[in-house]
Amino acid sequence: MKFLCLIGDGMADFPLEERGGRTPLELASIPALDALASEGLCGLFWPIPEDLPAGSDIGNLSLFGYDPHGTFTGRAPLEAANQGITLGPDDVAFRCNLVTLEDGIMKSFTADHISSEEAAELISALDAACPHDCAFHPGVSYRHLAVIPEGEVKCTALVETVCTPPHDISDQPYSPHLPNGPAHEHLRALMQWSRPILEDHPVNTARRASGKLPANSIWLWGQGQAPQMQTYRERFGISGAVISAVDLVKGIGVCAGLDVINVPGATGYIDTNYEGKVDAALRALERVDFVYLHVEAPDECAHEGIIDKKVLAIEDFDRRVVRPCLDAARAHTDWRILAAPDHITALSTRTHAGGPVPFALWGAGVLSNGVSRYDETSARNGGLNINPGFRLIPRMIGSDRLDTHTSWED
Ligand SMILES: [Zn+2]
Repeated sequence: MKFLCLIGDGMADFPLEERGGRTPLELASIPALDALASEGLCGLFWPIPEDLPAGSDIGNLSLFGYDPHGTFTGRAPLEAANQGITLGPDDVAFRCNLVTLEDGIMKSFTADHISSEEAAELISALDAACPHDCAFHPGVSYRHLAVIPEGEVKCTALVETVCTPPHDISDQPYSPHLPNGPAHEHLRALMQWSRPILEDHPVNTARRASGKLPANSIWLWGQGQAPQMQTYRERFGISGAVISAVDLVKGIGVCAGLDVINVPGATGYIDTNYEGKVDAALRALERVDFVYLHVEAPDECAHEGIIDKKVLAIEDFDRRVVRPCLDAARAHTDWRILAAPDHITALSTRTHAGGPVPFALWGAGVLSNGVSRYDETSARNGGLNINPGFRLIPRMIGSDRLDTHTSWED
């Protein structure tokens, strides 16, 4: 059997008062997702365990079928795995965002969606100037890494310090959210140290001249030591591949022993190369058993707080990803598709939230449960309501038959 997971990052949401109480999925025209829901099994599940923070790290790890309680050590070590950075036993990897701080406010946690090329120059300048034995590694757009080895500051202190994700404090004063805990002085000093170097860098001079926000600080968060995970081959005896623009998601794939397929023009935004991702997924399924195709755009648009943009991102996902994948799958009798988000990203708060989200499971041995549309309300009213903590993908891979009589509990 072949398994294709289509993940629309953060596409679930809450009812929007200004749109008559409808959610972005309810506002969007999504005939392909609706077809998966009506021909397959549809319902609600909880990608985020109730006691853990809502984020793409926990959400995707849990979607991939791992219990985040046992495996999650931080977002940054997963991203490091993707970048081929081997962490020593006493190394702590941090996510190092390039951000825009202005008048005490977190003006942009993406540094105005800085390009990877501009960012690489800035990260390289930081790495060259860093007085500590900390190393900076460039990633995609605003998403980079800093690896701090144990030194005068112990790695347990680095791990235990509370660091706030910058996307949680958009347009808010940032000082109450600076690192707090045993290594806070060290981490705050490193962030402060970056500011003059970035502020005066020619990349930022050029950005200001062209009306863009400067990437004038680093923001450290998401830290942890290397995770220990069983591979898909070990767990399920299958091969697989992951396709995403996001280092975190690719890093989980690396730790799960999956191939990472890098698609040119995959940006993690609404201008991404949807067709390239679909082509890569369908070609990969000719040789592997499992493909995880992740699209970041709905999440980014929700962080921006723009309703119509999120609806458009969901419609693009439907028309340019789900539709061609479903059309291709119809030519096979042994394919299964799962469509799901990794968490809610709420337009109202512009950040992630826990709670149940809709899923649709379609294909070989999957019986319809009569839900006609893919959205939160339809899934809640007519669908399966799966308990928090249950992971869908292992069941999708491991069961011959999937219907309302299948056990949907661990
Ligand atoms: Zn996410």
